[in-house]
Amino acid sequence: MYQVITPEKPVGILKGVGPKVAEKLMSIGIETVNDVVFHIPNNYENLSVMNLNDAENNDKVTVQGTVKTEPALAWFRGGKNRLTVFMEIDGIYVKVIFFNQPYLKDKLIIGEEVRLSGKYLKHKLEINGQRLIFEAGEGFRVKYPMGKVMHSKTFNKIVAEVFHAFSFNYDLPEAVKSKYRLLSVREALRLIHFPKSQHDIKEGRRTIKFYELFMFQLRLMEKRQEERVRNERYIIDYDIDELKAFIDTLPFDLTGDQKKCTNEICRDLKQNVSMHRLLQGDVGSGKTIVAGIAAYAVKTIGEQTAVMVPTEVLANQHYQSFIDTFGGRLTIAKLTGTTTKKEKMEIVTRLESGEIDLIIGTHSLIEDDVYFDRLSLIITDEQHRFGVNQRKRLNDKAHRKNVLYMTATPIPRTLSITTFGDMDVSIIREMPKGRKPVETYWRRYEEVEEVIASIAAEVKKGHNAYIVAPLIEESETLDLKNVQEIYQMFLDYFGEEQVELVHGRMKSAEKAEGMGRFERLEKPVLVSTTVIEVGINVPNATYMVIFNAERFGLSTLHQLRGRVGRSDRQSYCALVSDPKTENAKQRIDIMTSTTDGFELSEQDLEMRGPGDYFGVRQSGLPEFKVADLAEDYRILEHARLSAIELSGEMRKNA
Ligand code: ADP
Ligand code: MG
Repeated sequence: MYQVITPEKPVGILKGVGPKVAEKLMSIGIETVNDVVFHIPNNYENLSVMNLNDAENNDKVTVQGTVKTEPALAWFRGGKNRLTVFMEIDGIYVKVIFFNQPYLKDKLIIGEEVRLSGKYLKHKLEINGQRLIFEAGEGFRVKYPMGKVMHSKTFNKIVAEVFHAFSFNYDLPEAVKSKYRLLSVREALRLIHFPKSQHDIKEGRRTIKFYELFMFQLRLMEKRQEERVRNERYIIDYDIDELKAFIDTLPFDLTGDQKKCTNEICRDLKQNVSMHRLLQGDVGSGKTIVAGIAAYAVKTIGEQTAVMVPTEVLANQHYQSFIDTFGGRLTIAKLTGTTTKKEKMEIVTRLESGEIDLIIGTHSLIEDDVYFDRLSLIITDEQHRFGVNQRKRLNDKAHRKNVLYMTATPIPRTLSITTFGDMDVSIIREMPKGRKPVETYWRRYEEVEEVIASIAAEVKKGHNAYIVAPLIEESETLDLKNVQEIYQMFLDYFGEEQVELVHGRMKSAEKAEGMGRFERLEKPVLVSTTVIEVGINVPNATYMVIFNAERFGLSTLHQLRGRVGRSDRQSYCALVSDPKTENAKQRIDIMTSTTDGFELSEQDLEMRGPGDYFGVRQSGLPEFKVADLAEDYRILEHARLSAIELSGEMRKNA
């Protein structure tokens, strides 16, 4: 009689799994019958014999042949040993060597046929033997990640017992299976655990990947649905006239896209659901002012906004630009890692009393001892730099939860949704009027004098120049010009009065002072590491030089270049590099051929795959057994469409 696999049954009910075995399985996280079938093999050994003539150098092979010589066993120091025997396999006379398996000597008898697996070193006519194979038959030997608690073979038998005794009560919808030619989940898992061919493994895995990603998308959508609970208390009934009057005071007209995004955000605020929106716009497209308008709207009903940014330098920058923008109309404060205890206590008091309308800060904002009176809008800049949990901790402080994430990294929608949850997206594609594309050049090291001369010309006109150099560490092996060396080069040319140095090893306060002197044009040339990468806005800067440009990815290069071209003056970017690989050269070519961030990100995706988008900080993502978000994002897209279709139908039928 078949039982269904869920609701979850403990492994103990399986035949052959007593309390001892159950405990062992538990120790590697396998508690239920369902866990057993989703414990996926991490390796396979092909037991089917192949013809050695078809093997390439270094191939892992399973072959069969006749023993031709008496095996010779040699011992070395420390008890290590080597067993050597000559065999004839498919007409080839090969030397077979087994390391540290002396007991195989008795199994290798002249004139007898044996089957073995190992690595074929074709040019030496040698096989580095791994195992003699005694099982008859075809197919695969399946290997599981078992710690050391159990042999893979034993576990495979337990899996077989599940397939013998249980039916599954979950599967992909029929329509999805037939559309994408997928197997049933049960059949797919069966092939993964008991494959007869490479094709079985591939098809089994394809279905399970799809299944995992499909379920993941459904969960995301459900979560979003829950968040969309309607409640009058989410309404921010801001004063539209007051807001319009404020917009009229801005020193420039908003671009069409800025207006559109502002409207979308304001509409969210007025609605009875909480806002969950991503504001995406290329570097320099003017996201900050859009955020500022939203903050102003919230202030018109006496509530508060917090802006969280990833670095101290950026916090200073935003603080200053908000003060410039709002004049005295908002009470603005700043909280960072260098804020003193005393200052912090004072700020928290003013936050709690509701006196502060807008606070700009770093991670310091999420600390437990920071309270708000009525925090109703949370803005995170360069939000991919924060972990899911950090964002959540700030969001949890909200009185009315409205969150706006800003990013300059144009990521394909599917990827952003998967990484950041299902959210609404507003996009600024249009640059402020009068912006000229940054003229971008590639220069070799031997041409650096020419670059310096053109910087001097810009400085003479009263403009700023950024010089980005690789990290501060000595790295002779990499043959990089490091930041100290480059600093010296510019000192020699421009003199100390004109050159500022800022790098990652400096204290925050030091960095901030250096940036200040640069911004105020006291020192128009800034030599730095990539600390300036994010968000900095010095519209007077017209020259960007990036040394060792080949070391940076396209998105970083684009971010860096985005620091110039922020006014109606013509700006320039010189990529100084002697690229050694085709790939590096290609990146530089792309940079010199376009300044459009969306186009760049597409090319980037094509060149590298989406791996980097899922880099470090995505701690909130689930772990998949078979699927890999970076590799399988195309499957993810289809899984997402299927999930949307399904939930649409469910709603129709409800
Ligand atoms: P980003 O999207 O990279 O954060 P910013 O918000 O820092 O861009 O804006 C870049 C610069 O453009 C700032 O100096 C800002 O004041 C200016 N700016 C923003 N919107 C406009 C506009 N509509 N017209 C002219 N300048 C603008
Ligand atoms: Mg910005």
